[in-house]
Amino acid sequence: MPGTSERTFDAFLAALRRLDYTGYAEQYPPFGSWTDFSRKGGLLPAAWRRSLRLTKEAGLFVNVPFCRQRCRFCFLPVTAIGSSPAKRSEVFGRYFAALDGEAGFYAPLFRGAEFSTLYIGGGTPSLMTPDETAGFFALLRRRFRFARGLQTVLELHPEDVTREKAESWRSCGVDRVCIGVQSLDERVLSANSRRQGLTRVAAAHRILAAAGIKVNIDLICGLPGQDRRSFLRDLGRVMKLRPDQVHLNTFINTPYTLHARLGGGSGDEKEVEAIRAEGFRRLAGAGYIKVDSDSMGLTPGSRNRQSTRLAERRSVLGLGPGAVSRAFGGARYINRAAWADWEGPARRGRPPVERGTLCTHRDEMIYSALTGLTDDLAVDLADFRRRHGSDFRKVFSAQVRELEAAGGYFSRGKFRLPGNMWGLVRKVFYGPEAVARGLANIKAAGR
Ligand code: SF4
Repeated sequence: MPGTSERTFDAFLAALRRLDYTGYAEQYPPFGSWTDFSRKGGLLPAAWRRSLRLTKEAGLFVNVPFCRQRCRFCFLPVTAIGSSPAKRSEVFGRYFAALDGEAGFYAPLFRGAEFSTLYIGGGTPSLMTPDETAGFFALLRRRFRFARGLQTVLELHPEDVTREKAESWRSCGVDRVCIGVQSLDERVLSANSRRQGLTRVAAAHRILAAAGIKVNIDLICGLPGQDRRSFLRDLGRVMKLRPDQVHLNTFINTPYTLHARLGGGSGDEKEVEAIRAEGFRRLAGAGYIKVDSDSMGLTPGSRNRQSTRLAERRSVLGLGPGAVSRAFGGARYINRAAWADWEGPARRGRPPVERGTLCTHRDEMIYSALTGLTDDLAVDLADFRRRHGSDFRKVFSAQVRELEAAGGYFSRGKFRLPGNMWGLVRKVFYGPEAVARGLANIKAAGR
């Protein structure tokens, strides 16, 4: 929007973010500008072919969308299935059949590619029994090829960790897990319909370490009912376990959370960020180093490669309800989020897509620039050229001039910003098409 003030543009961005029920607002083109793709699945093969010509580097994300019960703060597209083993086994039988159908749609497109990372998210993938886990991995290996040195990450609930399950994960190639601890404070947990104690988390960590699996522990800052003391006390307890990686998320109260649906609000954003920053300081004091914008690890390799390399020249194919796919230079799209809406088309081998947008190599360069200038307040010029084969100064000369007028400067091989300029950076980089689609979506949603 040429001539638009930074303030007006910030309001536009805030409205775009409100349209985002996924929590992935930082994608580019922004989620709020994506359009209805439910009848556009036919565009995907061409988008993926174009993408795979640009890069063969790809990761696979699979969403296992079931949990025993829904936590009040969760925005993810999960279905609560309770604790009955019979119900669990019936639901997983249907899920595997539909997942196989969806994988079958993409398998011919990926015949010449190998996935270098595999992330099994949820939901609660650890609900699967060892036999189901083996069947799940066999299904993926029948459909796709995986590279040597593949990193395989699985999300789990601490209550599910037993020696038998840990051994089955290891034998299926899982080398890193994310334990969704979120909080250890009884008061916060019960206010959010969740339970698990420190003893259980410590036991899970011991069992996983003995099985040779690296552990990442997730905590959430700003949860309903949580205060600074509670969050930092949880962090202190987690640090004593010395997990390989610690992820400090922020509570995102999208319209998808039960908390928002029941009328609950969010804490003060600045205050939550200050508490999280204190968390990072304490981790640094305990020897952890920053491995991405939300987490710290014991070594530079202590990280989930799939989600920390999103701004690079690589794609991610997402399978399962609500999974987000990123075909580098081709498309971004999200699957239908509700289990019932996803299951039918997936089972019939059709892409169960809900919203999306086609995108170009230039969009990928914009995404790289936005990510660098937001997370690191800098773009590394050599790195940009290696990723995109283009000179950042030339491709974005007009944007560089605008940012220089606001204090941006070149120094030691990087274009740098003097401080956080989140809104301005987006104002100068957002392309007219993404803006036009965003405005149309805001209008349609009445925001
Ligand atoms: S936070 Fe984790 S366990 Fe709770 S509903 Fe969400 S995915 Fe399931």
